[in-house]
Amino acid sequence: MSQYWSPAVRHLTPYVPGEQPRQRLIKLNTNENPYPPAPGVGQALRDYATDHLRLYPDPTSLKLRETLAETFGIRPEQVFAGNGSDEVLAFAFQAFFCHGEPLDVPEITYSFYPVYAKLYGITLRRHPLNARWEIDLDALAHHSERSGVIFANPNAPTGHAHSLAAIEQLLQRVTDRVVLIDEAYVDFGAESAVALIERYPNLLVTGTFSKSRSLAGLRLGYALGAAELIEGLQRVKDSFNSYPVDSLASLVGCAALTDKEYFEACRERVITTRERTRQRLEALDFDVLPSQANFLFAQHDRLSGGEIFFALRERGILVRHFDTPELGNFLRISIGTDDEMESLIEALDVICR
Ligand code: PMP
Repeated sequence: MSQYWSPAVRHLTPYVPGEQPRQRLIKLNTNENPYPPAPGVGQALRDYATDHLRLYPDPTSLKLRETLAETFGIRPEQVFAGNGSDEVLAFAFQAFFCHGEPLDVPEITYSFYPVYAKLYGITLRRHPLNARWEIDLDALAHHSERSGVIFANPNAPTGHAHSLAAIEQLLQRVTDRVVLIDEAYVDFGAESAVALIERYPNLLVTGTFSKSRSLAGLRLGYALGAAELIEGLQRVKDSFNSYPVDSLASLVGCAALTDKEYFEACRERVITTRERTRQRLEALDFDVLPSQANFLFAQHDRLSGGEIFFALRERGILVRHFDTPELGNFLRISIGTDDEMESLIEALDVICR
C-alpha cells in the first residue's frame, strides 16, 4: 500500500485471471477456444513480418473496422476497435457512465464491471438473478433516473442468454441512458443485439476475438453502436494518444473474420461438445445450467465446487470455481476438444463416485 495511490486504487482488489499453467494441463478454466484460428491467419502472419512490421499502424484501423462492419451488416462509423473487449469496456465506462451516478448491473456477472466501476467512481446498483439464475431484465430497466445499464449476454459465469425479444423490451423501457450488452460469448448459440443498433441509438454492443475466433492471445475486441456512441469511445481513446490496435491485430483479425466457413464449423463443434458434456455431467449427478456460451456452469449434488476443483487439479485438469457464498458450489468448465472433455468426465467419474 502506498501513500501516493488514490483512494480508488488503494481499495482496488486486482483481478486474478484464471491460471495459465506452464506445464501441459488440460486447460478448461478461462473459456478459450480449443481449436486453432482460421487457416488464413497463418498466411496473414507470414505476410505481416515482411510487409507491415516496420510501419506504424493505421491510426483509424479502417480496414479492420470495414471488415467488422461488413461482417455485421453495418457501417464503419458504427465500429470501434480496441485491445481486447476489456479495454473497450474500460473506455465505455469512462465515456458513458458518470462519476457518483448509479449503474444498473446484475449481481452475478462478469467480474470486471465492479473493478471498472470502482476505478472510475461509478456506484453499482446490483440486481439479483432470478430463481433460474437468469438476469432479471425487469429489475435492470426499473429505475428511471439517469444512469447506465450493463450486462453480459450470454451472462458469465452462468451461460444463460436472453432472447432478442426480451432485450428489445428492455430497450423500449430504457431510452435515456446507455445500455451496454457484452456479447463476448454470443456466437455459441445466442441471438446478437447488433440487429437492434439502428433502432436504438443508446445501445452499445461489445464483442471479442478471444472466444469464437480463437485469438485470445492477440487482444482484440470491438464495440458496435450508433456513430455518436462510437465517437464517445474515440474521444476517450484519443485522450491517451494511442493507436486503437496494432497492425498485427488488425491484419490477423481481418483474416479470422473473412473465413466464414471455418468460423461456422468451429463454433458448431464447440456447441456439439458442450451439449454432449452437459449430458455426461448430468449423469454424474451435476445440476448443469442451460448454456449458450463455450462453458458450462454446474454444481454437484454432494461435493462442493472447491473439493472437485482441487481433485481435478491433482489430475492435471484446470477448471474454475468461485469462492463467493452464492457460487461456492459451482464449477465453470470451458468447453475443450472432445478428447479433453473425455478426460474430464473420466476424472469426474472417479472423484464423484
Ligand atoms: N466480457 C466477458 C463476459 C468475458 O468473460 C471476457 C473474458 N474473460 C471479456 C469480456 C474480455 O474478453 P477479451 O478482453 O479477451 O476480449
